[in-house]
Amino acid sequence: MSGCKHQNVSCINPYELIRKYHCSNCNSVMMCDCEKEHGERFLPHQLREGCWLETQERVPVTLGFQSRICPECRGEKPIIAPKASMPGYTSKVSRYYWREIAHETTKRFYNTRPELDPLNWEHSEFSFKEERRIIEKQVIEEIKELYRKAPKYEYSEQSQNEVITQTNTEVILIKAEYISTNERKVGVKGKVGIVSVEEYASEYFSEKGYSSILSESVPFHVIFGTYMWMVIQDPCDPLNRVVGFGNRTEYEEFGTKNDIIHTDLPSDFGTSGYYKRRKYEIDKHINKLQDMAWLFDYWKPYSHDFRQYLWAHRSEDIETARKIVQVLPEESVKSVLKYLVSNYWRNFCGWPDLFVYKNNEHMFVEVKSSKDTLSEDQKNWLIGNKEHMEFNVKIFKVRK
Ligand SMILES: [Zn+2]
Ligand SMILES: [Zn+2]
Ligand SMILES: [Zn+2]
Repeated sequence: MSGCKHQNVSCINPYELIRKYHCSNCNSVMMCDCEKEHGERFLPHQLREGCWLETQERVPVTLGFQSRICPECRGEKPIIAPKASMPGYTSKVSRYYWREIAHETTKRFYNTRPELDPLNWEHSEFSFKEERRIIEKQVIEEIKELYRKAPKYEYSEQSQNEVITQTNTEVILIKAEYISTNERKVGVKGKVGIVSVEEYASEYFSEKGYSSILSESVPFHVIFGTYMWMVIQDPCDPLNRVVGFGNRTEYEEFGTKNDIIHTDLPSDFGTSGYYKRRKYEIDKHINKLQDMAWLFDYWKPYSHDFRQYLWAHRSEDIETARKIVQVLPEESVKSVLKYLVSNYWRNFCGWPDLFVYKNNEHMFVEVKSSKDTLSEDQKNWLIGNKEHMEFNVKIFKVRK
């Protein structure tokens, strides 16, 4: 360890506020001096441990702060790590510059409130949501301006059109009459009255002899939970441990968490590292699956706890999943399972609105109203589908 110049460092998790770096020459974990002042003042509890992104394994920081560790301090390109889009944080600036925004907002907040102790959790910046939000908005504006001419991060994401072209996705453009309704959803004039754009799309396909199921992502979580519980909760997996969480049904019905479900889960579940670690067992399990429709019903009770964990517990979603499994060929169900298990937390969202089928033909349809664009999750799904599942997909756009 002594004398190592840490020439071979990599960030263990770019999503941490104070980043940790692992040096593969000396096998130590450290932070960069440029984050020392901020870390010691505001986040001292985050300086002892880091958490590997791929596996969520926690590791101690062994060398504290060292000089010239992060790429920028070494004169290299900064790490690009955009956050997923969240309500209130959808702009590219707030998703790409989230660390800069968070650091500056925190610092500015406590500078204007010198009477507050940043380490007193009961009275932190987050107890003053409105005040903090105002500062944050100002910071976002300033950062937008600061990096307008010379961006620090190149936006790596592809535009909607690039994704549609790259994945060869057909776009069906339909003109419809939009009606403003009191509800928040857009209404269009359908065959019998005002309908949602999704219902409008269903009518369109029904005229062509197709049936359609309003699906989105959750039924695929049901499919995943039902067929995969056995290998994921395998008691022979050395990283399996007991987790406890509130019963989802109780929470949705009564808002309470009295009934705690205890079940087995691997500590790295849902990461890409999990699949790499268990690839042999997982592939073997999926390859052996057969008689899918029968198995779905048979494993429903056994998969209960795992599906609860995944929020794949509602009976209407189970019914939808059941229908999809009856239509999809065995190989397609297996490709869904492989796609999801390869990186569950990255791939579980973004499934299209409709599952449309007729006899042996089936496709996915993402419905968009006139102003609606593809979300990052939906782009990720389209690219993932092209690479791993190859389902027939269409975008159904209802124009004004
Ligand atoms: Zn080193
Ligand atoms: Zn640095
Ligand atoms: Zn949609």
